[in-house]
Amino acid sequence: MEVELTAPNGKKWTQPLGLFINNEFVKSNNDSKIVSINPVTEEEICSVFAATPDDVDLAVNAARNAFKDPSWKSLSGTERGALMSKLADLVAENAETLATIECLDNGKPYATALSENVPEVVNVLRYYAGYADKNFGQVIDVGPAKFAYTVKEPLGVCGQIIPWNYPLDMAAWKLGPALCCGNTVVLKLAEQTPLSMLYLAKLIKEAGFPPGVVNVINGYGREAGAALVQHPKVDKIAFTGSTTTGKEIMKMAAGTMKNITLETGGKSPLIVFEDADMELAATWSHGGIMSNQGQICTATSRILIHEAIYDSFVERFKAKVQEISVIGDPFEKSTFQGPQVTKAQYERVLGFIKAGKEEGATLMLGGEPAPQQGKGFFIAPTVFANVKPTMKIFQEEIFGPCVALVSFKTEEEAVELANDSAYGLGAALFTKDLVRAHRVAREIEAGMVWINSSNDSDFRIPFGGVKQSGIGRELGEAGLSAYYNIKSIHVNMAA
Ligand code: NAD
Repeated sequence: MEVELTAPNGKKWTQPLGLFINNEFVKSNNDSKIVSINPVTEEEICSVFAATPDDVDLAVNAARNAFKDPSWKSLSGTERGALMSKLADLVAENAETLATIECLDNGKPYATALSENVPEVVNVLRYYAGYADKNFGQVIDVGPAKFAYTVKEPLGVCGQIIPWNYPLDMAAWKLGPALCCGNTVVLKLAEQTPLSMLYLAKLIKEAGFPPGVVNVINGYGREAGAALVQHPKVDKIAFTGSTTTGKEIMKMAAGTMKNITLETGGKSPLIVFEDADMELAATWSHGGIMSNQGQICTATSRILIHEAIYDSFVERFKAKVQEISVIGDPFEKSTFQGPQVTKAQYERVLGFIKAGKEEGATLMLGGEPAPQQGKGFFIAPTVFANVKPTMKIFQEEIFGPCVALVSFKTEEEAVELANDSAYGLGAALFTKDLVRAHRVAREIEAGMVWINSSNDSDFRIPFGGVKQSGIGRELGEAGLSAYYNIKSIHVNMAA
């Protein structure tokens, strides 16, 4: 049920391999497993049990029983917050191990996992721990004959389904508000990257959460994920992943009319106006698409540049990519870009690059695999210029280190190009003109707009999309509303 592992950085740990149900690691009922692959070496790390629909049923029943059990139900918000704070402390204590696992299983640089991803988990848990005894209803004054008030009640059992690009952070974004409001959870991990959250599951038990409050299962989407979405005893589904899967989930959830929130794909624009601080714009433009191997839902993957500065900006951007995007072993300090997460993703990204070349975009940089010592799912950071809005690389989410550069003439054209997308997740714009900055920010169809930065997200600020980028918000106070019902209580004062 567990295996001793050692990473290339010398870190050793005991890796759980089971399904975490009722605070215990158990086998799947048919013993099926999924192999986790190291994307640097293309070799097996270990095999992890994969939930079948019967295992999902077991996990849902554990969560349902825990929801009704006084050990969880009777806790005050203050006590729930204390458990969450304890978990945050344990995550902080285990930061190096968690960052090591994330690096090994996902391929993201260790330094980023340690300095950004694990601290994000701690921050999110502490933030929502603080809300646990401050999230209450209202008294509504309708005159002396009637007393009316509302209470916020947990929804019940929440099924949460996460992707592979930020395994720890995506889990924290979902667990934080759900536990804060008193729900119980069945969290389905992405089958490509289950290891870090299975390790964190041990810490959930150690923090003192009662059995069944948080259940963590690995498994395939079409099997375990679909069973969770359709389960009649699940009250809510929170999903982060692709738009295609999000649509399937909406359909499946209709059968039992489940409450759903969806955080899906994006093709976020970044506009560089002629008066922009060029150095600032080039630096953020680079980070906005090339960080995390380009595997970010809010990646600013379409850069729209005013024609007057097009050539000079393209040169400056190219220089930034050449200077900063150092490819290599993600455990090396000097590495900015590791491998894509899996062979399937690697091939998918290369397929988009091929389409860009065939459709006639100008390849400025990259455009090919970049194996390290002959191995790994590495792709050279790729920059396409002179991209047309009709091209596939302008319209579709690539989810890799590949960017499309386009020129525009007027502000109206820039807004039109920015909004020429089925998606509406993030957007960024660079200008020194504050009036224009706020005007354009309001015209862009997106859930989030960054002025003079990109992908500068924050756990205290709502995160989510419009159009086909999703429904609902995570993070911030807004993230709580996905996890409670408002019950209205009317009292006849004349009785
Ligand atoms: P995916 O949709 O293939 O998988 C996401 C999760 O859904 C996985 O756990 C998977 O097992 C599960 N799943 C797949 N099919 C399912 C089904 N039929 N029923 C139930 N569950 C199912 O996405 P991915 O390739 O793992 O992740 C990348 C995508 O995630 C990108 O499109 C990216 O934009 C998106 N993403 C969005 C956000 C956001 O907040 N908007 C954040 C991160 C990633």
